[in-house]
Amino acid sequence: MDDRDYLPLSWLSQVDYCPRRAALLLNERIWAENADTAKGRSEHSRVHDARVERRGNQLKLYEYTVFSDAMQVWGKCDCIEAQRWELGCSIKAADFPVRLYPIEYKHGSVREERSYMIQLCAQAMCLEEMFSTEIPCGALFFISAHRRMEVEFTDQLRSDVTARAMVLWKLWETHSIPPAEYGAKCRRCSIQEYCMPKVKTSAGEYCRRLAKEAMEVEPL
Ligand code: SF4
Repeated sequence: MDDRDYLPLSWLSQVDYCPRRAALLLNERIWAENADTAKGRSEHSRVHDARVERRGNQLKLYEYTVFSDAMQVWGKCDCIEAQRWELGCSIKAADFPVRLYPIEYKHGSVREERSYMIQLCAQAMCLEEMFSTEIPCGALFFISAHRRMEVEFTDQLRSDVTARAMVLWKLWETHSIPPAEYGAKCRRCSIQEYCMPKVKTSAGEYCRRLAKEAMEVEPL
């Protein structure tokens, strides 16, 4: 895999959350921390330690790199449970066939966020492609609540993942920034200050209008 030709898988959830946010982060390299992102990073750093744990017929692979040639994305799975299953696939870390079950760690209370499901399902789709296997479900693990929420990888969720990958690539290749659509999501967005979602006019359009108005002013 050549990572110059692949985009980060985690951006798919950004696209799902808000395409404008994804474009600002991706194309203008804007990033701002808020309480949510800081807490998420600190809790995540505790699990970001690549290792394999074995216990009998089950392995846990942490920080496992995954990629998809079809979607041209790559990323890391926080944890993959690999359970012995005679109809399963082969992975390097196990000397028996296994069924794979990806788990993505999230901070905060248990909640059904579509963008989290998109990220998890994308990881599963990468694993399916890498190991020619089928993964019907995985789980989100909410660290503070210490609760697991199972996610079924439905056809709809899979096609949403593919669609988000296409949007991500389009944003990257065209360097475009979609217009803001103010909504509830903006209240928790860490880059709201840069995005200015309530300002209907883009900065470029605003400057052009000011310049036009300045030229139209009658000289005294
Ligand atoms: S403030 Fe709202 S519109 Fe702007 S990037 Fe964030 S979520 Fe998107």
